[in-house]
Amino acid sequence: MSLAIRTRRDRKKRPRYVDHGSPSLMLQMLTIFILRSHGENIIVVWVGRDTAATKFYVDADLAIQHSEFFSAALKDGSKEAEERTVRLPDLDEGMAAAFEDFHSFLSSGKVTSGETDESAKYDAEKGSEEWDRLVDSWILGNVLVSGSFKDAVVDAMVHKTLTNSVPIDIHMDLYQNSSDSAPIRKLVVDIAVHIWYEEDIATLDPDDEPKLQAKFLRDVAVAFHKVKQLSKAEQAKDPIESSEGGCHYHEHGADKPCYKTMFG
Ligand SMILES: [Zn+2]
Repeated sequence: MSLAIRTRRDRKKRPRYVDHGSPSLMLQMLTIFILRSHGENIIVVWVGRDTAATKFYVDADLAIQHSEFFSAALKDGSKEAEERTVRLPDLDEGMAAAFEDFHSFLSSGKVTSGETDESAKYDAEKGSEEWDRLVDSWILGNVLVSGSFKDAVVDAMVHKTLTNSVPIDIHMDLYQNSSDSAPIRKLVVDIAVHIWYEEDIATLDPDDEPKLQAKFLRDVAVAFHKVKQLSKAEQAKDPIESSEGGCHYHEHGADKPCYKTMFG
């Protein structure tokens, strides 16, 4: 069982990324040429604005397979397909870490959580930074219209929920960026119902994004009523724990394959 902790997300505390600057177009084209000569269909993706942007070399076929955004951006005849470059200037440079998650997901089918940094496990601040990254990654998945990446991020969140502390306010950004029916909302509501203590709910600030808090607390109240109708034995079950390895919080539904079947 994880402990809920009372930390506020503080975007200013997030690590900043090195200013990589813009290499010359010729150098960039040369790199792409070398990679393509090895049979790889590589594009350059810039995350962030101008000189603060971070550059990624991305396998275009995988990006198209997993993201409707890349699929549309790289359609035949587009400027992006022609230049083999996609720019994402509207993502702030802090989203580079989230894009790194997407980048490694494309080749591995995995998004890491708690496992890689043992010291983050019971360190509220470090653990909270990793939660920030996972929340950013989920939001990036929304921007890139990548259901498979979002589902992998959700699996990392489930794993982290079961092994690490959970910041008390992760629902804020996730509610802000999701629709009423998004399964991610089910996860954060289950965290509130099954992992939080009653004093955690009592400390929520109703003046902090009141409309969002109201929606969240409405969903939490409904979920508590549903739990109340269960037998004592069923009430004791933690749906987050029993979801591990399954598709309970995934977006793909019955008609689309799970991302886990897409990686060999
Ligand atoms: Zn699934």
